[in-house]
Amino acid sequence: MINQQKVLERIERIAAALKENRELLTSLDAAIGDGDHGINMDRGFDAVLLKIKDMPDADIGAIFKAVGMALVSTVGGASGPLYGTAFMRAGAPLAGKTELTQGDVLEAMEAALEGIQTRGKAVQGEKTMLDALIPAINAFKKGQEAGLDNRAIWESVLKAANEGIEFTKTIIATKGRASYLGERSLGHQDPGATSMTLILKTFAPDAEE
Ligand code: ADP
Ligand code: MG
Repeated sequence: MINQQKVLERIERIAAALKENRELLTSLDAAIGDGDHGINMDRGFDAVLLKIKDMPDADIGAIFKAVGMALVSTVGGASGPLYGTAFMRAGAPLAGKTELTQGDVLEAMEAALEGIQTRGKAVQGEKTMLDALIPAINAFKKGQEAGLDNRAIWESVLKAANEGIEFTKTIIATKGRASYLGERSLGHQDPGATSMTLILKTFAPDAEE
């Protein structure tokens, strides 16, 4: 079970992981975009950290909403509004909750996906963050249906997200800035699928969970 404190810790871990991978994300974006993805995500989560400092007693839904709002208001480009919407939407089914079940986590991921798609109008296979998130959600559902334990579910979720990253190397971008490159986007890994996988990774269960 994930409680409020653990959610706050995980958001801090997302910020740390994005900071650590800032150069990687930026260089991936330099190859097929404008080279700001690492900077965008790092700046956004610096703002998120400031915001969540003031909310130790907030419920989990409120925390996710605040994360989303901080991202929307500090990050420009495509990823700010998309990740911002994702976190805000993920917060809706979690409103009032102080602990998350496996079912809550899946609901939140599905709400995030819906938000990203409503906002960005992309589908799977367009070389975006969705190429990590959609297979991750599918793996989550499949694991749940098969009765896997939480640890095994998350192992398959992260495997699917990583395979999604690999898949983005094999396809042409048809959404976002990378789509301007057409065929020249082939062979390159999508920065957004990479940041999405880093974010998903932090939600995998800890050793004691
Ligand atoms: P910008 O492209 O405005 O510079 P970023 O570099 O921060 O923004 O983010 C780029 C990432 O955003 C891409 O790698 C891709 O994964 C994601 N992206 C772009 N457009 C869309 C979209 N319509 N739907 C989903 N993800 C998208
Ligand atoms: Mg960019």
